[in-house]
This record gives sequence, structure tokens and C-alpha cells, in this order.
Amino acid sequence: MDPDLISDAHLADSPWYKSGVKFSCQSGCVRCCGGAPGDVFVSRAEVDAIAAHMNIPVQEFEDSFVRHYSSGRMSLTERRNGDCILLNEKGCGVYDVRPQQCRDYPFWPEVMKSVFAWIKEADRCPGINVGEIHAAPKIADLLRSQK
Ligand code: SF4
Ligand code: SF4
Repeated sequence: MDPDLISDAHLADSPWYKSGVKFSCQSGCVRCCGGAPGDVFVSRAEVDAIAAHMNIPVQEFEDSFVRHYSSGRMSLTERRNGDCILLNEKGCGVYDVRPQQCRDYPFWPEVMKSVFAWIKEADRCPGINVGEIHAAPKIADLLRSQK
């Protein structure tokens, strides 16, 4: 077999995080909820759940807080400073029904693609490399679910 193929197969089976990584969200921190523009993608079910949680009609919620893309995807909007529109002084205003994208952080493909991306993300997130160890199979499952 071509040695390069062996090497590729080995890498596919052994991600850089194969021994797990430490991550624990830090109380009082909201850095991943703002500071820069970005998409927080939401599904139809998530839009409905958040609107119900906020006790406002779905259409009103969409008109005020949702950006629609021509692809059909929807994202929460943000304030001028880049903060998520649902972030308030206490933290996430819809924490119990926050979107899956928020629940998955920092186990996003762009963060987990390399150890360098992970270390860079630690500049933003003080919970990275701290506390609870997250096992590789769980992380791999999360990444697959985001495809
Ligand atoms: S940046 Fe990290 S520590 Fe801060 S709220 Fe987000 S996940 Fe938690
Ligand atoms: S929905 Fe909540 S958890 Fe997600 S980015 Fe907005 S404020 Fe943060």
C-alpha cells in the first residue's frame, strides 16, 4: 500500500485530540456570545422554541432577531458591537433554549481542525484547556453532527 495512504488513514483514525481535551465554561464569561460579528445559525425548530421561550409571536421574533439567507439558512442577528442580539447583562437571555451551535462550542470544525486552531481559540475562550476532560469519541460525534 502507498505509504501516504497508510499515513492518511492513520491520521483519520487519530485526530490531534485523540487523548481528549480540557474544556470547562467559566462562570460569568460571555466572550463567545459577542465582540465580533458572526452567524449563530438557528433551525426552524430553534426559532420556534426561542420565540415561545420569549413569549412573542414567531414572526415578530424573526422580524427583530433573525437574518435570512438566500440559501434558506437563518442566523440570529447581532448588535453593532458584534454581541449576539440575545445577549444581555446577565448572559444568554435564552440559555435554556439556546441554539445547538452555542451548545456545541468550542467543538466546532474550524476550532477542532488543528491543535493550532484550538490554541488560538484559547485566546478568546478562557474555558479552553481548563477543567473537564472531553473524550475524543464525543468530540468526533459532535463534529459529525454539525456536517
Ligand atoms: S468564551 Fe468559553 S468560557 Fe466564555 S462563555 Fe464562551 S465557552 Fe464559556
Ligand atoms: S443565543 Fe445565547 S448562547 Fe448563543 S450566542 Fe446568543 S447569547 Fe450566546
